[in-house]
Amino acid sequence: MKLPPNIEKLTPYDPALIRYPVKLDANESFIPMPETIRQKIVAAVAEVPLNRYPDPMATDLCAAAADFWGVAPNCVVAGNGSDELIALLLTAFVPHGGRVLISQPDFSMYAFYADVQEAVCVFLPKTDGTPDCEAFVRSYRADGGDLIIFSNPCNPTGQGVVTQEIESLLQRVDCPVVVDEAYMDFWKESAVSLLARYPHLIILKTCSKAMGLAGIRLGFALGDAQRIDVLKKVKSPFNVNSITQVIGCVILQEKDFLAQCRARIIQSKQTLEQTLQNRAGSDYRVVPTQTNFVLLQTPKATQLYTGLLTAGVLVRKIGHDLLRITAGSEEENACFCEAFFCILKERIL
Ligand SMILES: *Cc1c(COP(=O)(O)O)cnc(C)c1O
Repeated sequence: MKLPPNIEKLTPYDPALIRYPVKLDANESFIPMPETIRQKIVAAVAEVPLNRYPDPMATDLCAAAADFWGVAPNCVVAGNGSDELIALLLTAFVPHGGRVLISQPDFSMYAFYADVQEAVCVFLPKTDGTPDCEAFVRSYRADGGDLIIFSNPCNPTGQGVVTQEIESLLQRVDCPVVVDEAYMDFWKESAVSLLARYPHLIILKTCSKAMGLAGIRLGFALGDAQRIDVLKKVKSPFNVNSITQVIGCVILQEKDFLAQCRARIIQSKQTLEQTLQNRAGSDYRVVPTQTNFVLLQTPKATQLYTGLLTAGVLVRKIGHDLLRITAGSEEENACFCEAFFCILKERIL
């Protein structure tokens, strides 16, 4: 079978074939939906006419999202996860062979979708785990760029860029600047307040992390109405299914619950960091993060990763010396710590 070279080299995304009892690899929320909200979801889903196509513009859902983030409804488009929106942004704004400026390391899906679309990825190394806005500007001025994209705070470095720096970047480039705020629920530097003044800013939001709805696949792009309209033009007509639309409407109205989720997840991460910090020896270093995951730098990353797997604990290995551990429930964190210290103590490595 003859395939285009950029497609030929791909492998299916399937990070964990087996289900592990303690799953701390994907930055999901550990908080179960409270029964009262679950009942509201069940009631809303029961009303969905399954024989009908969904609302292609997800009107009610986008209105709920607009209200939640304080923007106008025509400045929001919903996607089948923010993942789909990343692909749509590249389709909409980057011509064949165009340049996408990506900070390195960052979320792998940016380069993945850029590659699939045969765009040119320009990788700009991070300084101390933070996107280097000066490097974006230099590269943009020297060779041009069709789109700049980075996560803030960043997956996987856990570091973020402050709003002021994003504003300065926006003042110096004209191409769309996509700020992926998948983890902004755990930090306080959202760029949403800049949207009104910078029409080339686009912000991605997801329901997969703090909101605890990774399973329904729902994300949003917020931006200037004209650019959001472009995304609406290129998206597939029924990209967000009816069930997801009604569940999204329910959850976005549960502001108190979502605030509690954010606080509990941050607390869990801090406790886990503290536990690891208190017992840290020369084996590893706790890298501070602004996200819902703990980052450990250790020369034994590979052995620890494998040892943890054997103990039924799945985390993510990043590069050769980093482990990314999602903040879990008390029990999950305890399982992780027990296995982790056991591996270190018994010098299984
Ligand atoms: C998890 C994550 C997302 C969320 O993707 P969805 O498709 O909305 O589940 C987006 N960006 C980054 C950087 C992430 O880590």
